[in-house]
Amino acid sequence: MKNNLNKSKAQIERLKKIITSHDFAYYADDNPTITDSEYDRLFLELKKLEESNPDLVTIDSPTQRVGTTPIKGFEEVDHHVPMLSLDNVFNEDQLKKRFSSKIIDPLKKIQLPQNIEEIPFIAEPKLDGAAVSLFYKKGILDFAVTRGDGKTGENITHNIKTIPSVPLRIRGSLIPDEIEVRGEVFMPKIDFLKYNQNAQKLGLRTLVNPRNGAAGSLRQLDPKITATRPLDAYFYSVVRIKGTKLPKKNSELLNFIRNLGFKVSPDSELVYGLKGCMSYYSRINKIRENISYEIDGVVYKLDDLDMQKILGYSKTAPNWAVAHKLPPQEETSVVSNIEFQIGRTGQITPVARIMPVYVGGVTISNVTLHNEDELHRKDVRIGDTVIVSRAGDVIPQITKVILEKRKKISSKVKIPKKCPICHSKIIRDQGKRVSRCIGGFSCLAQKKESIRHFSSRSAMDIDGLGVKIIDQLVSNEIVKNLSDLYNIDKNQLSSLDLMGDKSAENLLNSIEKSKKTTFSRFLFSLGIREVGEITATTLARNFKSIDDLKKANIDKLESCADVGPIVASNIKEFFNKKENIQTIEKLLNSGISWKDEVNKSKDSIFKSKNVVITGSFNKIKRSDLKEKLVFLGAKVKSSVSEKTDIVIVGTNPGEKYNRAKSLNLALFDESDLFRRLSKELDITLE
Ligand SMILES: [Zn+2]
Repeated sequence: MKNNLNKSKAQIERLKKIITSHDFAYYADDNPTITDSEYDRLFLELKKLEESNPDLVTIDSPTQRVGTTPIKGFEEVDHHVPMLSLDNVFNEDQLKKRFSSKIIDPLKKIQLPQNIEEIPFIAEPKLDGAAVSLFYKKGILDFAVTRGDGKTGENITHNIKTIPSVPLRIRGSLIPDEIEVRGEVFMPKIDFLKYNQNAQKLGLRTLVNPRNGAAGSLRQLDPKITATRPLDAYFYSVVRIKGTKLPKKNSELLNFIRNLGFKVSPDSELVYGLKGCMSYYSRINKIRENISYEIDGVVYKLDDLDMQKILGYSKTAPNWAVAHKLPPQEETSVVSNIEFQIGRTGQITPVARIMPVYVGGVTISNVTLHNEDELHRKDVRIGDTVIVSRAGDVIPQITKVILEKRKKISSKVKIPKKCPICHSKIIRDQGKRVSRCIGGFSCLAQKKESIRHFSSRSAMDIDGLGVKIIDQLVSNEIVKNLSDLYNIDKNQLSSLDLMGDKSAENLLNSIEKSKKTTFSRFLFSLGIREVGEITATTLARNFKSIDDLKKANIDKLESCADVGPIVASNIKEFFNKKENIQTIEKLLNSGISWKDEVNKSKDSIFKSKNVVITGSFNKIKRSDLKEKLVFLGAKVKSSVSEKTDIVIVGTNPGEKYNRAKSLNLALFDESDLFRRLSKELDITLE
C-alpha cells in the first residue's frame, strides 16, 4: 500500500513537472513542444491520479489553477514595499528637465558627474492593464495582490492562478526562499475582440476595453469567471528576495525573472541617454498598432540597480523611472449636433459634431455614425457626453455614450424622411443599411460629390479643383452637369471667391490636360456604384469601348474577374439611365479621349510570381497592396524561401528582409513599387 502511494506520488510529481514545462513553452515562450491532444492526455492522467489520491493534491498543481468555490470577499493585504505609480512626462522637453533634475543634479551632488547621453536605461512599453504583485515562498505562489491605493491591495490569488502564463511554481534550479515580483495583467487586443464577439453572440455583457477587461476580471469573486477571460501577464521588477542575489542591472533582472518562468515584455530595450529614449519612444509610437496589447506610454528606468537605490523615491514615485505618455487614443467629448451628409450616390450619413478633442495625435470635431442602424444601436443624442477613440489611421469612432451624464431632456435622433439639401425623399435600400436621397444629380450635395470624385487624382485628375471651388461652381450654376466642367471660361472662374487670374488660368490648363486620359480612369470617374479603381481597370481590359460596355449583358459583365452580380447590376442600371448616356456623350464630345489600354496585352512583372511583403508603407495599406498584387497575378506569400521571386520592403521591415538579402532575392522598395504599380494599373496612389 505504502509502495503504491509512493509510486503515485512520484508519478504525480513527474506529471506536474512535465505539464508545467509545457505550460511555460506554450504560454511564456510561445513555442509549444507537444500537440494539444498530447497535453490533454497528460493533464487528464494527472487529474485522475489526484482524484484517487486527494491527499497528494498540492496548490502548485496545474489542475488547481481554477478553484471550485467562489471567495466570499476580498481580503486586504498591506504591501511589503509600497506599489508606487510613476510620474508622467508628455514630451521631450519635459523628459529632458526630468532627467536633469531627478538624475543628473543629484548625482552631481554626490560627486558622480554624468553625461546623460552615456547613461543606460531600460525602456519598455507601459502596459495598459492592472498592476499586480506576486509573492512566492519556496518557489510556490503564496499570494497575489492588486495595487489598490499603493499601500494596501486586495488578495486576488484565486484569480491570478487562472492565468495560464503565470507560474504556480518557479522554474529552474536556483529557487529563492522568498521572492516578490511585480508586473501587469492585461488582455491581448485580439483576444479582447474575440471575447466580445463571442459574448455578443451569447447575449452576454461585453467588455468596454482591454484595460477594464483585465482589471474587472481580477476583481471577480468566482475564479471560474476569471478563467473564461483571456488574460496574460508581463513581469518587470523584483521588490524583495531571500536566498538568492539579484543581478546588478535592470536589463539582467528581466532575464533573471524570465528564467524563473515569468513572461517579460518582448519589446523592452536597453537604450542610452535622452536620445536613445526618444528614438525608442518614436519607434514604439509608430508600431503601436501592431503591438498585440494596449499600451499608453513607454517607461524608462535607470539600468543600474545600485544607482536606482542611490536616487531613491519621492513621496509618490521613484526618481529613477518615468513614464512617457503616448498621445491619447481615447477622450471624452460632448455632442453638439448630429447632422446628415449626402454622399455621391445619395447615401445619407449621420455625423456627430463634437467639442474638439485631441485624440491619437489629431484634433477631432466630427465623428461619423455610419448609417441608420449604427445611429440607433449607439443611440447617440445631442448633448450626450461620449467617449471618442481613434486608433492609428482608422477613422475616429464614438465608442460609448456615458449614460449617467445624459441630459434629462433628450430624444432619439432619427434619419430624416427628406433630404436636408434637395428635399427629395430618403429611401432605404432593400436589405441594406444604407438610406439614400433619390434626388440623383439634381441634388446639389450629390452633384458636388460627383464632381469631386470625377476630378480626383485617381479619376480625371483635375489639379486645383478643390472643394470650395466646386461649391461655388455648383451653387452659381456654372456647372450643372459633369460635362459643363469642360465649357467653363476664364471670366466665370475669375468671378469666384479665392480665385485669382493666375489660378483660374492654371485650373483651365489642368481641365484641358485632363481630357487626355485612359479608359479605366474615365470609367472610374463616372462614379458607378461600387466600381472602384480595380474594377474600372478590369472593365477597361475586357471591353473595347464605352459602347461595347453599354451593350454588355449581365452574364458578360459577370464573366470579368472581380465583377459580381451586384456590381454587374449596378453597371447595367447606370447605363440604362438616359441622363448618364447623355453625360457620357457630352463628355466625349468635349474632347475627352484615350488610347487603348497600354498594358492590355503585356503581362505584369508580378504575374505568377511568389511575392512577399514586409514592413509598412506610407501610401497604401498592406491589405490594399496585397489585393493589387493579387489582381496583377502575383501569389502573395507570408514567408521568404528559395521559391520567393520578389520581396517588397516597406519601412521597419522584419526578419523577412534579412532573409531575402541573404538569399539574394529581388527587392522592391516603396518607390520602385509605386512606379511599377502606377505603370501597370494606371492608377495614382495618393
Ligand atoms: Zn438630396
